[in-house]
Amino acid sequence: MTHLLVVGQGLAGLFAANLALRKGLRVTLISQGRGGLSLSPGCLDLGRTAASLPSQHPYRSAGLQNLPAAVDAFRELLLLEGIEFLGNPDVSMTLPTAAGRLRHTHLVPRSMALGHFDAEARMVIAGFDGFRDFDAGLVGDGIRRAGWPAQSISLPLPGEARRDLYSTDLARRFERAWTPEQLSSLWGPRLGKTALLGLPAVLGLDHAPETHLALERSLGVGIFEIPTLPPSVPGLRLERALRRRSLQGGGRLIEGPTVVGRVDGRSGGGRVLGVVAATSAGPRAFQADAVILATGGFLNGGLRADRAGRVADSVFDLPVEAASDRGEWLGDGCLGYHPYDLFGLRVNEHMQPIDRQGRVFFDNLFACGGVLGGADRRGEKSRQGIDLLTAYAAVHSVAP
Ligand SMILES: Cc1cc2nc3c(=O)[nH]c(=O)nc-3n(C[C@H](O)[C@H](O)[C@H](O)COP(=O)(O)OP(=O)(O)OC[C@H]3O[C@@H](n4cnc5c(N)ncnc54)[C@H](O)[C@@H]3O)c2cc1C
Repeated sequence: MTHLLVVGQGLAGLFAANLALRKGLRVTLISQGRGGLSLSPGCLDLGRTAASLPSQHPYRSAGLQNLPAAVDAFRELLLLEGIEFLGNPDVSMTLPTAAGRLRHTHLVPRSMALGHFDAEARMVIAGFDGFRDFDAGLVGDGIRRAGWPAQSISLPLPGEARRDLYSTDLARRFERAWTPEQLSSLWGPRLGKTALLGLPAVLGLDHAPETHLALERSLGVGIFEIPTLPPSVPGLRLERALRRRSLQGGGRLIEGPTVVGRVDGRSGGGRVLGVVAATSAGPRAFQADAVILATGGFLNGGLRADRAGRVADSVFDLPVEAASDRGEWLGDGCLGYHPYDLFGLRVNEHMQPIDRQGRVFFDNLFACGGVLGGADRRGEKSRQGIDLLTAYAAVHSVAP
């Protein structure tokens, strides 16, 4: 049985591990820490059209025509965990954000879908007393600025809050402590004839779909969740669901060690023998038939730059193209586009990292997700599309 080693447990690595397990591979997933899912609103941004793709764009390497299949595979996987994604890869939805702006995305979990605006509905945005990571007034202002009516209120929660409440505290209490009946007797009188209620996205970590549905039934209103400031509970739900699935599917998860290089030596055809990880007991080799790098970009440790301006991936030290003058890496303004957003590994159509001349570094090494270059993910709003499609393509190359 092929033994696949996946490095990194962000969306790309977890999805790749699950796909590979479903194809019957033996899978070990190693990561030095958590991926970026807790920072993501838990929706699928698919961005970009084929006509405008630059030549090195990961959508182009992986084949944009395969995006619907990758998204379907993801939806199927999450449905097994009770999380249903709604929407259409070709049509964007407009949803409110906790920052008081509207955002465009493509697929959302069912618990967020009613937030896609319906001008007819009488909408109330509610925060919770004692929960500071969600300002219903700010969210409501954003909706009203866009021309839709919305009222902002704060709802009480059962019991006394002895300290500030965090989104993960609330998610656990919605799931384990509070009943829908208890909440509807507390909130019902405040909601009057409300048809649509927007709440911070904290309605549970592992059983949110059930909690959401039970609360809608008990209150008799449509409810949609709005992601809060990080940590984002909807992102954590995906992370937990994908981890659970991979463990149930027989995958091995090793969390903590930093992968620092490859096992020395090449077998006959330029293949990687495995990776070396720095564990608390010293360096340890993990042999594998194939390796998928899903180590993310600079912020999660997948790419690194030295003082001399050399950029490389953090595991295999594969070179990444970058201007020699570091001053050219940054754009204007902190939140705008920066040329370093495009930095990352270059891959061929099999998701194998290649050099400038298009030569493959190792036959059995593949890469996916944020470690790949060529895309301004933030600007294009293509983050999850790239993670899913490239993970899908990489696994397809390992096990066609
Ligand atoms: C600061 C920050 C802000 C973000 N903001 C948003 C946002 O606003 N919206 C949104 O949708 N998403 C956001 N994200 C998530 C981001 O979009 C994803 O990180 C991105 O989609 C790439 O996903 P990935 O799976 O390729 O890698 P990541 O999610 O970055 O995960 C990389 C994984 O690789 C592991 N790793 C890296 N190097 C090594 C190594 N040498 N050895 C072992 N393990 C290693 C890491 O520990 C991690 O598990 C943010 C992420 C970060 C870090």
